[in-house]
Amino acid sequence: MLGRMLLTASRSDRLRDFVATAPVTRPVVDRFVAGEGLPDALAAVRDLTDAGLDVTIDHLGEDITDPAQAEANRDAYLALLAAAAPLGAGPRVEVSVKLSAFGQALGPDGHELALANVRPVCAAAAKAGTTVTLDMEDHTTVDSTLAILDELRKDYPGTGAVLQSYLFRTEEDCRRLAVEGSRVRLVKGAYREPASVAHQDRREVDLAYVRCLKILMAGGGHPMVATHDPRLIAITLDLALRNERVPGSYEFQMLYGIREPEQRRLAEAGEQVRVYVPFGTDWYGYFTRRLAERPANVAFFLRSFLPA
Ligand code: FAD
Repeated sequence: MLGRMLLTASRSDRLRDFVATAPVTRPVVDRFVAGEGLPDALAAVRDLTDAGLDVTIDHLGEDITDPAQAEANRDAYLALLAAAAPLGAGPRVEVSVKLSAFGQALGPDGHELALANVRPVCAAAAKAGTTVTLDMEDHTTVDSTLAILDELRKDYPGTGAVLQSYLFRTEEDCRRLAVEGSRVRLVKGAYREPASVAHQDRREVDLAYVRCLKILMAGGGHPMVATHDPRLIAITLDLALRNERVPGSYEFQMLYGIREPEQRRLAEAGEQVRVYVPFGTDWYGYFTRRLAERPANVAFFLRSFLPA
C-alpha cells in the first residue's frame, strides 16, 4: 500500500519540489545516489572497481518534456564516457540509459528521437571498449525499447536491455532474447503497473523471476541477474552449475548502497558483480522508487525530518 503510494508520488512535480529542496533530504539520498556531479560518480566508480566490482553508471534523468533536454542528456553521457575512458576499465565500466531521458515519450516522433539520441552514446561506448544497457521503464515503453534494442544491436551487438519479471509478457521476451551475444538484465520491476499487464503479488513476481532466470541461464546470451534477493541469488548459483556456466558467462548486479557486504562477498567468492551507480541532480524518481521497495527506507527517510 505504502509502496504503491510512493510510486504514485514518484511522478508528482509538487512533491518533487518539496523533497528536493528539504535540507534534511541530502544524507538520505546520498545512501542511494553517488552524488550530483561527474567527479562524485567517478570517485565512487574508482572505489568500487578497486574493490573488484564492475559498474554500470546511470546519469539520472527521466520523463523529459522537450527535445533540448534529450540532447543535453545525450551530451551528458558522451561527457561521462569521455571522462570514464582514462580509468581504462573497458567493459568493467559500462553505462545504463533511460530512453525517456532521450525523448522516447515526446509524442509520435519520440521513438525515432530516442533512437537518434542513444546511437551516438552506443558509438562512444563501443569506442571506449564498453557497452550500453537500456533500462526498462513502465509497461507502455517496452515495445519501443525492445525495438530500439533490435536496431542498436545491428551496429552495437553488445547493447543490453532490462526485462521485468512482474510483466506477464516477459517470459516470452526472455525466450526471444536468450540467444548468442545478447545481454539481458533481469529485474523484478519497480513501477506501478495495472493487474491487466503485471503480477501484483510479490510471490508471483518471484516465481516469474525464477521461470525467466531458467530461460536465460539455459540460453546462449549473457544473463545479468539484477536482484538483492538472497533466494534468487542462491537459485542463480544452482542454475549456473546445472547449465555449466562459469562466472563471467553471467553476472550479478545490485544497486549502489544496497546490500554492499553481499556485493563484496560474491565478488570475493569469484562471481562477477556489477554495481549500478546513479548520479546527477534529477534523483527524485529514482530515490522514491528505492523508498517504495522497502518500508524501512521510508522510516529512515522520515526520521531525518525529526529534530536531532
Ligand atoms: P526485493 O524482494 O525487493 O528485495 C530483496 C532484499 O533486498 C530485501 O529484503 C532487502 O534486503 C534488499 N533490498 C531491496 N531493495 C532495497 C532497497 N530499496 N533498499 C534497501 N534494501 C533493499 N527496475 C525496473 O523496473 N527497471 C530497471 O531498468 C531496473 N534496473 C535495475 C538495475 C539493477 C542493477 C537492479 C539491481 C535493479 C533494477 N531495477 C529496475 C529495480 C528492480 O526492479 C527492483 O525494484 C529492485 O531490485 C528490488 O527488487 P529485488 O530483486 O532486490 O528484491
